[in-house]
Amino acid sequence: MTPNLDESKKLKIIDGKWLSAWILNSVRTTTKALGERHSIKPGLGVILVGENPASKTYVASKEKTAHDCGFETFDAKLPSDATFEQVSDVIERFNQDPNIHGILMQLPLPKHLDSEKLLDKIRPDKDADGLHPDNQGELMRGKGNLRPCTPLGAMRLIDLALSGVDTFRSSPTEIPPSTIPEQSLAGKKAVVIGRSILVGKPAALLLLERNATVTIAHSKSANLPELCRDADIVVAAVGIPKLVKRNWIKPGAIVIDVGINRIPETGKLCGDVDFEDVIEVAGKITPVPGGAGPMTIAMLILNTYRACLTLNGIKDE
Ligand code: NAP
Repeated sequence: MTPNLDESKKLKIIDGKWLSAWILNSVRTTTKALGERHSIKPGLGVILVGENPASKTYVASKEKTAHDCGFETFDAKLPSDATFEQVSDVIERFNQDPNIHGILMQLPLPKHLDSEKLLDKIRPDKDADGLHPDNQGELMRGKGNLRPCTPLGAMRLIDLALSGVDTFRSSPTEIPPSTIPEQSLAGKKAVVIGRSILVGKPAALLLLERNATVTIAHSKSANLPELCRDADIVVAAVGIPKLVKRNWIKPGAIVIDVGINRIPETGKLCGDVDFEDVIEVAGKITPVPGGAGPMTIAMLILNTYRACLTLNGIKDE
């Protein structure tokens, strides 16, 4: 992940691969118990439209993770010229299928398709990505079962950063469930850079729910470095490679980098945070890759598991 770092810097890393493995271990165990007690297997329905290579990779990784956890997957792969009606028909079929508990429609869709209108067609109680307006509305009210995966993952990365668990020296299987509780962020200032429906806005609401004092910044914000310098937590969800620099960050702050950018010259991935620069001052920081990415997948699996319990009228397992 970050092979050239000295040990003091490695200890600053919020390891999303470790955390996702820790969460998925427990989903695997509870899924097994669900099968033994109720003969139920969580089912994930995956819709992929077109040939976008990154989307294909994400979908393959999500399906593999679902299988590893003992889930069943159902996929619908449609050509890039698929019509709105064809995609709607698949959604409707998945909505009706009792073996499917979570539906994932991989974004972005080809430009001629209206993503929002299609997302609206997914049954809210099967909305594994938490993007249906009903679930977004519930989030606004501080309620709801299915929240957007990437912001949820960002919150758990903050929990890990504050937990004191040493992921550098312990394996996920050694750390018992509930060792990384949801932390109160009372008294802390958080800045979210980005205001998309997918990441920025829900991340801000989740931080607010934990009692952080939240600022949402965007492309029209003035004095962005200054805003960030005041924050105990910075969540970057922008889509500009290495935008966030060392002098934007208060010493000791937690930095969550949601960005996934491919550098054209090298083909390598990087985040919205200049990792090598910012790690010098941050208290804790997520790498890219290996931070928010794996957590987004873990949260999709957890949402599908939760939806499966709800749809089957099971309280908790
Ligand atoms: P998006 O819809 O394009 O939103 C980007 C946001 O950044 C917008 O709110 C925009 O402001 C703001 N912005 C753009 N330039 C800015 C600047 N110079 N200063 C401050 N704010 C600026 O993107 P998104 O879907 O939220 O995704 C953001 C990043 O996260 C991307 O790199 C994406 O690939 C990544 N991502 C990662 C995961 C994961 O699993 N790790 C999941 C989803 C997304 P305006 O609203 O004013 O335009």
